Amino acid sequence: MWSYSFEVPILMILAIILGFYFARPRLPLKRNVTFIKMIIIETLTIIADLAATMADNDYTSYSVLTLNVLNMVYFIAFFSRAYIMYLFSASVTKDSLEQRKFIRQVLSLPWFMGVILSILSAAFGSKKTSYLIFYIDSGGYHSGGMYNYMYICSFFYIIMAFISAGLYWKSLGRRREKYGIVVYNLFIFVALLTRFTLPRHLIMDTVILMAILVVFLAFINPEFFIDLRGYAFNHVALAEHLEENIGKIKFTPVGVVVRNFNEMTDIYGTAQMEEGLVLIGKHLKKEFPRGITFYLRNGRFLVLIKPDADVRRKLKEIRERFYKPWKSQTAELYLSVSFTTYDPVTERHLPEIILKTTLKTLDIAGSIESDEPMFITAASLEQEELETKVRRCIETAIKDTGFELFLQPIVDAATGQVVGAEALSRIRDEEGNIIAPGIFIPVAENSGRINELGELVFDETCRFIKENNPGKSGVNWINVNLSPMQFVRTDLAERYASIVDEYGIDPGCVHLEITEGSMIDDSFSERQIDAMTEKGFKFVLDDYGTGYSNLSRLKKCPFTTIKLDMSIVWDYCKKPDEILPNMIQTFKHMGFSITAEGIEDTNMVNTMKNIGCDLLQGYYYSMPVPAAEFAKKYLK
Ligand code: C2E
Ligand code: MG
Ligand code: MG
Repeated sequence: MWSYSFEVPILMILAIILGFYFARPRLPLKRNVTFIKMIIIETLTIIADLAATMADNDYTSYSVLTLNVLNMVYFIAFFSRAYIMYLFSASVTKDSLEQRKFIRQVLSLPWFMGVILSILSAAFGSKKTSYLIFYIDSGGYHSGGMYNYMYICSFFYIIMAFISAGLYWKSLGRRREKYGIVVYNLFIFVALLTRFTLPRHLIMDTVILMAILVVFLAFINPEFFIDLRGYAFNHVALAEHLEENIGKIKFTPVGVVVRNFNEMTDIYGTAQMEEGLVLIGKHLKKEFPRGITFYLRNGRFLVLIKPDADVRRKLKEIRERFYKPWKSQTAELYLSVSFTTYDPVTERHLPEIILKTTLKTLDIAGSIESDEPMFITAASLEQEELETKVRRCIETAIKDTGFELFLQPIVDAATGQVVGAEALSRIRDEEGNIIAPGIFIPVAENSGRINELGELVFDETCRFIKENNPGKSGVNWINVNLSPMQFVRTDLAERYASIVDEYGIDPGCVHLEITEGSMIDDSFSERQIDAMTEKGFKFVLDDYGTGYSNLSRLKKCPFTTIKLDMSIVWDYCKKPDEILPNMIQTFKHMGFSITAEGIEDTNMVNTMKNIGCDLLQGYYYSMPVPAAEFAKKYLK
C-alpha cells in the first residue's frame, strides 16, 4: 500500500494560498480566474486520486460502479488540470485565444477527447480493451490500451504553453513574469516526466504544487496590484484591467484628483499625505461600492463605474466631503479636489492611449481650480494617438538616421549679411510628411530619446561644418539647440568635445542654445557651462522672455548672445514700449549681444535694429531650409 499522507500538506498549502488570495482585494482578471480554477482542479485531482487509489486497493469492498466513477473522475480531473495549466500560460502571455474561437476550440480538443475517453472507460471498460484508458474487471482496476494518452495530452499542452510563451514573449512585461512562465512550465514538465518514468514515487503533485507556487509568486500575488493599504488598486492593475475589458465592458471612468498635490505634500509631509490618501481611497470605495477604485500616484484616483450611474450627484457629494478635513489619529488634512470624467469609453482607442490620456487629464485637472469636472475629450485621445505615432517615427529616425538637418540663416543687423545659422531638426511621418519639432521634440523629451536625437543633430551639424567650411563664406557659427535633459548630463562636455574632435573642427563654430528652463540648479548650470566653455563651446540663451528671468543668474553665465523670443519681438513691434529697449541696453552693458527671432517683414527689421538688436533671424530672410540648400544658397 502506497502512502499518500504527503498529499495532506499539499492540500493545506493550497488552502493557504487560496485563503490569502481571497483575503486581499482582487480584480476579476482572466489570469486570476484561471488561477483559482487551477487550484480547484488540482485539489479535485488530489482528492479523486486518493479516493480512487483507496478504492482500487480494496476493490472487493466497492461496487464496480463506484470504482468506475472514482477512476473516471480522477482521469477527467487529470486532463482538466493539464488543460487549465496551459490556459494559464495563454492568459498571461496575452495569447489572444479569445478572439480566435476556432483555434481555441481546436486546442481544447485533446482535453475533450481525454474526458470522453474517461467516460467511455467507466461506461464500457469491463474487459481489456485497447481503446480505453482503464477497465475494471473481477481483478479490480487495470490500465487500458489508451492509458498513455494522458501523457500525450499533457505533453501536448506543455509544448503549446512554450510555443505561446515564445510567440508572445514581449507581452510578458517584467523579468519576474518572464522567468515565472518558463519555470512554471518546466515544473509541469518535470512533474509529468517523473510520473511517466517513476510512477511509483508519487512526486507529481508536489512538483505541481511548486509550479502553482511559482505562478502565485510571479503573477498572482494580490500585493502586486494594490496600493493604499488595499483601499485601491494600482496602475499595473489598471493597465491589465483596461487591456482585458476595453470594448467588452462599458464603464465610465471618474477621475478624482487632490488639487496641487505636490504643494500639499510639501505642507503636510509624505507620511501624513499617505494617511490622507488612504482615507480618501476608503471613502471612494464607500461612495462607489460597485466601482473599481485605482490609485495612480501623485494624488490621482480613478474609479471605473457603470455608465448609468448618476455621476454628477456623486461628484457633488465627494466635493462636499472634501470641505471637511481628512482625519485620523495621525493626520488631519484639508485638501481640495478636482474631477475628470468622460462619456463611456470609446472602443476605437487602444487601452494604453486611454490610460495615458486619462493620466494627463487628471494632471491638468489637479493643477486648475474648477469645480466642473474636466472632460477627457475625443480630441485629447486623438492627440495621444498622434504622440504614439510620433514616438514611432522618432524611433525610426534614430535607428535609420532618418532625421533631417535644416538650417535657418542668422543675419547681422548692421550689414544684412548672413553670419550664422541655427540648426533645426525635422523628421518625417510614415507618409513622408514633415513633423515639426514643436511636436516631436517634447515627445522625444518625454520618451527619453532626446539625448540620442540631440546628439545626432549635433553630429550632423559638425559634419556639415567639416564638409562645407561655412566660415570661408562669412558664416562663422551654427547654433544647435540643447534640451534641458541634455544640458543636465554630466558627460556632455566630453561627449560633445569628442564629436568635435572626430571632425577636427573648431568647437567655437558651434554655439549651444539653451533656455532658462535648463538652468534650474544654479551651481550645476555654472559648472556645466564652465566645463563646456573650457572645451571651447559657446552658449546662447534661447527664447528669452518666456520663462522666469533671473538677472543675477544671467550675470554669472557667459552667454555670447541672448535671443529674444519671437513673442516679445512681435509684442514690441505691435505695441512699442520702454521696457524692451531698456532691457536690451542693460544686456549690452552686461556684455551680451542680442538676437531677435521671428523677423517677418521690413518693419520688424528696422524696429529691432533701431532698439539695438545685433542679429536677426526670421522668415523675412529665410525659413529653415535643408542643409544642402543652405550650402547652395549661402556658401560659396
Ligand atoms: P527655437 O530654437 O526657438 O527655434 C526657432 C523656431 O522659430 C524655429 O521653429 C523656426 O522655424 C521658427 N521661426 C524662425 N523664424 C520665424 C519667423 O519669422 N516666424 C515664425 N512664425 N517662426 C519662425 P522650429 O524649427 O519649428 O523649431 C521649434 C523649436 O523646436 C525650436 O525653437 C527649438 O526649441 C526646438 N528644436 C528644433 N530643433 C531642435 C533640436 O534639434 N534639438 C532640440 N533640443 N530642440 C530643437
Ligand atoms: Mg533655438
Ligand atoms: Mg527660440
